[in-house]
Amino acid sequence: MSQDIENVIIVGSGPAGYTAALYTARADLRPLVIEGFLWGGLLQQTTDVENYPGFPEGIMGPELMPRFREQAERFGARYITDEVTRVELAAEDGGIHRVWVGNDEYRARAVVLAMGAEPRKLGVPGEEELAARGVSYCATCDAAFYRERRVIVVGGGDSAMEEAIFLSKFASTVTIVHRRDEFRASAIMLQRAREIDNIEFLTPYAPVRFEAGDDGALGKAILRHSETGEEKELEIDGVFVGIGHQPTSRIVEGQVPLDEDGYVQVIGRSTKTDVPGVFGAGDLVDHTYRQAITAAGSGCQAALDAEWYLRDTPASPEAHWTTPDELEAEAERAAEAAP
Ligand code: NAP
Repeated sequence: MSQDIENVIIVGSGPAGYTAALYTARADLRPLVIEGFLWGGLLQQTTDVENYPGFPEGIMGPELMPRFREQAERFGARYITDEVTRVELAAEDGGIHRVWVGNDEYRARAVVLAMGAEPRKLGVPGEEELAARGVSYCATCDAAFYRERRVIVVGGGDSAMEEAIFLSKFASTVTIVHRRDEFRASAIMLQRAREIDNIEFLTPYAPVRFEAGDDGALGKAILRHSETGEEKELEIDGVFVGIGHQPTSRIVEGQVPLDEDGYVQVIGRSTKTDVPGVFGAGDLVDHTYRQAITAAGSGCQAALDAEWYLRDTPASPEAHWTTPDELEAEAERAAEAAP
């Protein structure tokens, strides 16, 4: 167990988590960020980010996220590149929250939850069995395996368009399979996909199962017409599921209120949950906007809410908040003691 009681632990490392880290670090709170193995959140798996203000030419997601991380680190944010396995949130005001990474326990007066969202599954037969053998949720990660091969992308939102556009540079054909004739994607993304020669559209169809070929890898998709029920078989080498995301709220289930879709509920326009000292930010709480910039904004709000909570809430007797003065005194003592 770590001996110190942290001021604030941030769980998650997308735009929300790193922005919360930046603001709490600049408030001298020395945040501890438990950032997961695959730090950087969903933007690490995306390509061009063209709508994040400040980058007129656009920037690649995997270039943007290390910048977020570095900026917070510059002001004293500390990172653990591992997964949170369990949390125990204290119910009372000023209580100490406990967070485990494997067998290591960390304690904090405030916690910012920013675990984001993960790809939604179709839940059809063959999907799980053929994962990584033809079924993928990330074109940026896996497109290179499908050079000159036939793939389908399932979904009708911006994620599906983005996956299809990226895949079109590798695959021989990309068929976007969507369960309705209307698309949820933005006009600009839809238009871009429509202008690419090797992207085709197949609507209104949805996959009902995936089957392996002789080599054990994905061989075909069986699709069903949404209105007539007619079934169609497509011989394919890969399927990219791009049907949106669901909040990664499992570790706090039963400890903070979630809505019916599993999003952490916050109070009004704040980032406060109904557990004192626990704040929620980013895609974990937001089913409406879900943009990098809105996630970053809510990370900032969570940091300010946490800072104000720490300022205004007396610590319970077991908590010892290491103030910046104490840290300085500690550093001086260590320097004097050094040979
Ligand atoms: P989304 O907008 O919720 O779209 C999900 C799509 O998947 C919908 O078309 C939906 O069909 C379909 N779908 C859902 N469940 C399905 C199922 N079980 N079977 C078949 N189809 C299913 O999600 P998203 O595309 O991930 O976008 C989320 C947010 O991120 C949006 O705000 C989007 O603008 C943003 N985003 C932006 C960019 C960009 O600007 N470059 C890229 C990616 C995402 P229905 O339409 O019939 O419901």
